[in-house]
Amino acid sequence: MERIVEIERFESERNDEVSLRPSSWDEYIGQEKIKKNLKVFIEASQKRKEALDHILFFGPPGLGKTTLANIIAIQMNANIKTTAAPMIEKAGDLAALLTNIEEGDILFIDEIHRMSPAIEEILYPAMEDFRLDIIIGSGPAAQTVKIDLPHFTLIGATTRAGMLSSPLRERFGMHFRMQFYTPKELEEIVRQASLKLRKPTRTDAAVEIAKRSRGTPRIALRLLRRVRDFAEVAGEAQISVTTTQYALDELGVNHLGFDEQDIRLLELLVSAKGKPMGLGTIGAAMSEDEGTIEDVLEPYLVANGYIERTARGRIATQKSYEHFRLGGVAEGGLFE
Ligand code: ADP
Repeated sequence: MERIVEIERFESERNDEVSLRPSSWDEYIGQEKIKKNLKVFIEASQKRKEALDHILFFGPPGLGKTTLANIIAIQMNANIKTTAAPMIEKAGDLAALLTNIEEGDILFIDEIHRMSPAIEEILYPAMEDFRLDIIIGSGPAAQTVKIDLPHFTLIGATTRAGMLSSPLRERFGMHFRMQFYTPKELEEIVRQASLKLRKPTRTDAAVEIAKRSRGTPRIALRLLRRVRDFAEVAGEAQISVTTTQYALDELGVNHLGFDEQDIRLLELLVSAKGKPMGLGTIGAAMSEDEGTIEDVLEPYLVANGYIERTARGRIATQKSYEHFRLGGVAEGGLFE
């Protein structure tokens, strides 16, 4: 079954996402510091009439990295080519991408931490000197062909900064860490999107969706679309808070935006009574991929103080115990 608060994009959402995607700074809510910096860099590079320096965005999925790359392209008046690292399998795939771009264009590579080391090697001179070194043939007859490339901007996005090799990381002139959105920002995103979907949302309904979206625009928009269906069936001209609450409860998203899987993870850690639990153990207990736990489930729970990551493993915090109404657990109190 699809997990409603899953932050990876569902295939069915692809087109919708494009139509709801902000195309200007004003429409792009939040991430103020990043926006401010980017505006300065863009203006400076335009004044110098140079391509923008390479940019790296990192942070959990659904926080607006692809959207930012597209806005940058619009602001720079540049074309953008979008791909994901797992799609670049051979040196020739990368060469084909790079030789087809024009001066000042943007190449957006999603999931850049999944790039194979061999491809990375080719990317280094391309990023640094705008040069492709391609080896043709093998053995003694092998030859290196050097191709000059137009000055382009690489925008990389990754959910796992730690998995990026340091030579690759260092070749990006700018690094930006995406932040989870505040409920207020998500409320505005929901409000704007519901107008685009021609189904206005009452303020209290937008607040409710925002509260349950785990700080993530992609989830807020997904919940909005599902709630809209309920509102349509109920014959509402404006989405009401009653319908919103009913719909979200039906979808299994609780008042904090947690679904069954979050609850299972928290319950597991709470049951360990303060003993740190390793990722491997958690994965086995939940029959869930470790990467998914680390990239998708945990970040929001960690950012909001429900889980702590320690060198020896994960532990549930006081806030988690309170959530399960085990309340009043003073530091270590329950564990002794
Ligand atoms: P990522 O690349 O980080 O996974 P996306 O850029 O694809 O995330 O964003 C997911 C969806 O959320 C997009 O459809 C976009 O419309 C919406 N979105 C993301 N960030 C914002 C924002 N700051 N303001 C409004 N909508 C946003």
